[in-house]
Amino acid sequence: MSLREEARAWLEENLTGEFAHARGLGGPGREHEGHDVRLAWERRLGEAGWTCLGWPEEYGGRDASLADQVAFHEEYARAAAPARVGHIGEGLIGPTILDHGTDEQKRRFLPPIQRGEELWCQGYSEPDAGSDLAGVRTRAHLDGGDWVITGQKVWTSLAHVADWCFVLARTEPGSTRHRGLSYLLVPMGRPGIEVRPIRQLTGTSEFNEVFFDGARTAAANILGAPGDGWRIAMATLGYERGASTLGQQIGFRREFAEVVATARRTGAADDPVLRDRLVRSWLELEIMRLNALRTMTSLSAGEPGPEVSIGKLYWSEWHRRLGELAQAVQGRAGLVADGPPYELNDLQRLYLFSRADTIYAGSSEIQRNIIAERTLGLPK
Ligand SMILES: Cc1cc2nc3c(=O)[nH]c(=O)nc-3n(C[C@H](O)[C@H](O)[C@H](O)COP(=O)(O)OP(=O)(O)OC[C@H]3O[C@@H](n4cnc5c(N)ncnc54)[C@H](O)[C@@H]3O)c2cc1C
Repeated sequence: MSLREEARAWLEENLTGEFAHARGLGGPGREHEGHDVRLAWERRLGEAGWTCLGWPEEYGGRDASLADQVAFHEEYARAAAPARVGHIGEGLIGPTILDHGTDEQKRRFLPPIQRGEELWCQGYSEPDAGSDLAGVRTRAHLDGGDWVITGQKVWTSLAHVADWCFVLARTEPGSTRHRGLSYLLVPMGRPGIEVRPIRQLTGTSEFNEVFFDGARTAAANILGAPGDGWRIAMATLGYERGASTLGQQIGFRREFAEVVATARRTGAADDPVLRDRLVRSWLELEIMRLNALRTMTSLSAGEPGPEVSIGKLYWSEWHRRLGELAQAVQGRAGLVADGPPYELNDLQRLYLFSRADTIYAGSSEIQRNIIAERTLGLPK
């Protein structure tokens, strides 16, 4: 049985009982839905070996090929399984620890991620350091056996449920820009850390401000050497824009199908301009699929090429346009929330949340700069 077939059968068998109603929970703009059941689901996945497929077996993975990992993501989206609560651990910090951690750090941090026992958040952005990440001002110094951290992070997704945060902090006093930064692993929920939710367009709070005021983590909880933070932080961004997004067009396909079904229901499918936009959207989705295959080939060959930036730019701009189309096919009804309790419907959430797609994981402008400078060789 291929891994794809195995995954399909397992999902079918396990998205039942307490998890039957978890299908579709937690999609874009709906991260507040069913956290507890999704956490229980994460643990069920972990137990059965369906998390962290590409990791070495000694840390709970299956050593799966990239093609098999993508096949799993596709089956996962096809089954409408709940949105993962452990994706930052599996997709970002896990691969970073695998590549840059000591053996002791791998043994300490990787298995709990694989089992869904410890959730992570990413402490990079600050009020004056977003696209210009080298502007980080949060600082840390050694005191006794601990790093002591002071500063503020912002837009920290899922900090309110995370057990750990990977924090980019300045550890060499007086250093500027890329130098003097370190990559610290910091336990959440301890004295000196305050998490304040930020209310988003959807009315919910997927991200937060995080204030560190003398928060502590053990001296050993640093990835790489002091001052090595920039290099490691960039490695993490590479994973963020890489393999984990390759299977996502299956999820997009389901959203697209819902837009088409709504267009049929509201009569928007008879409008020649909207029909044109629907067809264009479908064609672009096909292009996305082909690009994903091309990216897989280049990732399998080793070095990720410009495809990764092109991929991020392409899917995020496409998804944002799909959100606009989702609103358009609803007609005027899309502008109001349906009667009490005035919850947004899925298409309204899609529209509002997809505005963020072109900002996080490197904004569209930053992706265009990367393509211009590194691929086309244009001046900075
Ligand atoms: C939903 C969501 C979740 C997020 N989750 C996290 C998280 O978990 N952890 C975390 O650390 N961060 C997170 N972020 C923050 C995200 O990484 C930043 O928002 C992003 O890097 C942009 O930074 P900024 O918001 O400071 O905007 P700025 O950098 O101030 O940019 C403002 C505008 O200027 C443009 N711009 C900036 N520099 C250039 C340039 N050199 N050339 C051309 N145009 C430029 C940008 O494209 C943008 O349009 C999240 C953001 C969102 C929206």
